[in-house]
Amino acid sequence: MKRLCLLLALLVAIGSAGADDVRVGPQGPGFYRLRLGADEVTALLDGTHPFAADELLTHIDRAKVDGLLKADFLASPVQGSINAFLVKTPDRLALIDTGAGPLYAGDGGFLPTALLAAGYRPEDVTDVLLTHLHRDHVGGLIRNGTMLFPNAVVHVNGDDADFWLNPANEGKVQKILLPMFPGAMDSLAPYRKAGRVVTFRGETDVLPGFRAVPAPGHTPGHTWYLVTSGQEHLLAWGDTVHVATVQLAEPNASIRYDYDEAAAAASRKRALEEAVSKGYWVAAAHVSFPGLGHVRRTATGYQWVPVNYTRTP
Ligand SMILES: [Zn+2]
Repeated sequence: MKRLCLLLALLVAIGSAGADDVRVGPQGPGFYRLRLGADEVTALLDGTHPFAADELLTHIDRAKVDGLLKADFLASPVQGSINAFLVKTPDRLALIDTGAGPLYAGDGGFLPTALLAAGYRPEDVTDVLLTHLHRDHVGGLIRNGTMLFPNAVVHVNGDDADFWLNPANEGKVQKILLPMFPGAMDSLAPYRKAGRVVTFRGETDVLPGFRAVPAPGHTPGHTWYLVTSGQEHLLAWGDTVHVATVQLAEPNASIRYDYDEAAAAASRKRALEEAVSKGYWVAAAHVSFPGLGHVRRTATGYQWVPVNYTRTP
């Protein structure tokens, strides 16, 4: 009996030893560079965030979501990347979106570290181009309530500014979107005070080589930026896609964060067709870091083709 007890104690000890013997550490600062014509594009990771795909995706049934995720060795909630893209041209340093910064407690706020690791300082940024004013795109504009990018001009579609910077619109959105109003107002406040926010309307060149293309649906003024250098193009499509595994296979699948789900689906299909037919590089805010790749057509939908990792681009 005593021997049996000893044997059992030993087995319990062996069984529990595996639970705390190896600590899996975090990743290093996330940046990844790509050459685009004469420009350098650097993807910057602000963080990753658990995304309840099965609860948040709409116009698709849960079994289909779970099946598509499983086929890609994933399960809900999936970790969604929060990517921003820094574009260095011969005369400008433009940042497309800024991540969540302090607004996604613990899951975001790593962009400044990634930026420094990539060899840039926040004060080097000349322009910030926002795809829309949701918290995970504007939160990184500020640090301790002050401008993180004190020398930058912030460019945003006027329809998005009119909507999210006006609390009178709170009654027009689902409850899930209410935190977007203070997120946008607080993050933009010091830039507005300093006269550093510029709005634009419709399709226009915000800067040479940076064409703003309205793609409404996710938000009223959701905008893509088509970056061109020489013969090369990169489509920064913001929140056109949240879960690539599901929404490229089934582009009708929208999410509860879409202001207008039908319009968002129409914009998504337009983006996917353009990316395929023109062969554009795509920079995606929430596709797995670095969120750079291409789109190809399949028999029934589309597929994301991630960039081939290159140490010295
Ligand atoms: Zn987003």
